Amino acid sequence: MPQENQAEQMNNVAPGEQFSEYDFSRCKLCATYTASPKYKLKKTTVYACAACDFHFISHLYSLPSDPHDAAGNPLDRKSRDYIESKLPANEKQLRENLLLVKRHVSLSGTHCLDIGAGAGLFAHLLAEEGAVVHGIEPQRVFRDFAQQKFGIALNGETIDAPHWQQGFAGFFDVVTLCDVFEHVNFPAETLQDAWNVIKPGGWLFLDTPRRDALYYRISEWSYRLSGGENSSFLESFYSPLPFRHKQLFTLRQLLKLVEKTGFTVTSMHSSFFQPHNKMVLVCRKL
Ligand SMILES: [Zn+2]
Repeated sequence: MPQENQAEQMNNVAPGEQFSEYDFSRCKLCATYTASPKYKLKKTTVYACAACDFHFISHLYSLPSDPHDAAGNPLDRKSRDYIESKLPANEKQLRENLLLVKRHVSLSGTHCLDIGAGAGLFAHLLAEEGAVVHGIEPQRVFRDFAQQKFGIALNGETIDAPHWQQGFAGFFDVVTLCDVFEHVNFPAETLQDAWNVIKPGGWLFLDTPRRDALYYRISEWSYRLSGGENSSFLESFYSPLPFRHKQLFTLRQLLKLVEKTGFTVTSMHSSFFQPHNKMVLVCRKL
C-alpha cells in the first residue's frame, strides 16, 4: 500500500473505534502482556515488548463492516488526479518487485493474489505477464481507480474474510504482501491468513521497512538525547491515522515470524544503511 499519503488525505474513518478495548500491554507479535510505553510521540505512543522487543503504536483502525456498501470516499476527479500523479514513482519500485517475482516464478497462467493492491498497478503488471490476478484493497477510492484505469476489479474484503479463507484455501501460486505488513492491525494474523490461501509449493513475496536499520537507530538516539523533546524523526515512522504505519519489525523478528508460520525463506534482501530501507523476503510454503 505505497499510497499511504493519499490515505491520510482521503480517509475519514475514525481510527481505532472498534478496537478501543484492545490492551496494548499485550504484544501484537508474541502475545505476552509485557509491552509498555517506550516513546511518547505527539499523536500516539510507541509500545515496546519486554519479551521480544517488538515495537508498535497504541492505535488500531477499523474498516467498514461491509466493504461493498458505500462506505469510504468514492473516486472523484481530484482523487483520481492525485493517484495518477503518484503512479510513476510507484511504478519504478513495482517493476523491481515484478522482476523479483519473475526470477522465481513463471507467471503465465499463474494464480496471484496481491494483498494491499492500492491503485492496482502491480496487479496490472502481473496481468500483463499473463498471470490470473486477484487483488485486495480495502479503500474504495483505489478500487474505483483500478477499475477505471486498468479494468481490474479489486476486492474490498480483507484476507481474514471467509471469502478468501474458505473460498480460496490453498489456492494461490503467488501471494504478494508489499508495503502492507507495517500497515495492518495484526501482522502475525495477516501472515497466517496469507499462508492459508497459498497452495503447497506456492510463494510469498513480502517487503516491509526494517526497524533495526541506521535511520531508526538515529531517531531513537535523537529522542533519548533530547529527553523525549525531539520526536520528529520517530514521528516519520508511525502514524495513528488509518492505513499508516502501526508497527515495524527487525529483520530477526520478521524471519522468526515467517518461519514460525511455516514458510521457508528462499532469499532475502536488506541493507542497514538506507533510510526507510526495506527488507524483502522471498518465502515458500513447502
Ligand atoms: Zn513480544
